[in-house]
Amino acid sequence: SRPLALFDPEVASAVDAELERQQSTLEMIASENFAPLAVMQTQGSVLTNKYAEGYPGKRYYGGCEHVDTIEQLAIDRVTALFGAEAANVQPHSGAQANAAAMFALLQPGDTVLGLDLAHGGHLTHGMRLNYSGKLYNVIPYHVRESDLRIDMDEVEQLALAHRPKLIVAGWSAYPRQLDFAAFRRIADSVGARLMVDMAHFAGLVAAGLHPSPVPYADVVTTTTHKTLGGPRGGVILSRAELAKKINSAVFPGQQGGPLEHVIAAKAVAFKMAASEEFRERQQRTLKGAKILAGRLLADDVAEAGITVLTGGTEVHLVLVDLRNSPLDGRQAEDRLHAVGITVNRNAVPFDPRPPMVSSGLRIGTPALATRGFGDVEFREVADIIAQTLKPEHLSGEQADLLRGRVAKLAAAFPLYPQLNGPAA
Ligand code: PLP
Repeated sequence: SRPLALFDPEVASAVDAELERQQSTLEMIASENFAPLAVMQTQGSVLTNKYAEGYPGKRYYGGCEHVDTIEQLAIDRVTALFGAEAANVQPHSGAQANAAAMFALLQPGDTVLGLDLAHGGHLTHGMRLNYSGKLYNVIPYHVRESDLRIDMDEVEQLALAHRPKLIVAGWSAYPRQLDFAAFRRIADSVGARLMVDMAHFAGLVAAGLHPSPVPYADVVTTTTHKTLGGPRGGVILSRAELAKKINSAVFPGQQGGPLEHVIAAKAVAFKMAASEEFRERQQRTLKGAKILAGRLLADDVAEAGITVLTGGTEVHLVLVDLRNSPLDGRQAEDRLHAVGITVNRNAVPFDPRPPMVSSGLRIGTPALATRGFGDVEFREVADIIAQTLKPEHLSGEQADLLRGRVAKLAAAFPLYPQLNGPAA
């Protein structure tokens, strides 16, 4: 019953240090966000104590009346938010949502088309070492070398040649919107199911600022912690006819007891995602990414051999192309880290450097938009990034100046001020 700081000072001090890191730096990892206090409060609630195998009204444990209310709220809110016929809110993560969806739709050995990891796909879309690559016969599709957009002609040719059971559309590193209608047409032409993994852009869809895959796909999976801004977790949306199969693929197929504290936090996040405040935040997210792309396409940056993949963005992230820069992805990531901006290096398609080094950066705006950034601040942070990456050698003096600009922005937009102080 002792508070964390007294019972376990080692963990408490690392948690405090992480809070300080999040508050004092600028978070631009495209898959991250800051969950609202109400979401974190729900995750830290007594619901963590409850076993509830099964589904609302059909549990294998007693005492589930309140978690039934909560899980049903989460289901009703997420189906309304995305206009879906059915939802399973139990997947512990995005990877598990994908595993369960594939488990429902496929048998081991079945053929699947997915975007190549090296071209922006996710591990669970068929990477060799992932369950998806081991269980299924995955044929990767790619972006075109000429414009780095997904090559729908190749998707069609591969579908006709390999007759997949499932086509997976979705990405972890791609700065453009997908043509869901074209994916549907190709899937129909070979009798395949279509699954869209909207983990990255779900918040934009919820806000009505990105086309929705729901009318086109048989199954739509997502995480709840990226642009959606909720707790870490996954969701599967589907047509009503697939709901039973999906439910039994999640439990008992893939998981045991659901995390009802996380499901409750998902319900809170879905309520938030239906608000005007959320929509306005997603607008700033998109505008911020466009401002960043614009700055990184300017002549002074181009002279340093740096550009932006596909020449811009239609989503919440920008992919920086360092193939012609003396800086590789790792050096660029480290340099931004040293001035207080967190991003991740990312292989670009047709990358000449090895994956651990890479020739790209993935930079996203969702977390800073949640923090309150608007045009003015995104222009400032875009310029800080440009000035950090341009010089072949960044002097200590230059780095100090850039660090000072970052600190000023961070201080102007306090994060979780309620959590500061010894009482927290
Ligand atoms: N799907 C996509 C497209 C992703 O980008 C990610 C995470 O990066 C996932 C699924 C997996 O989500 P999680 O990390 O919650 O397992």
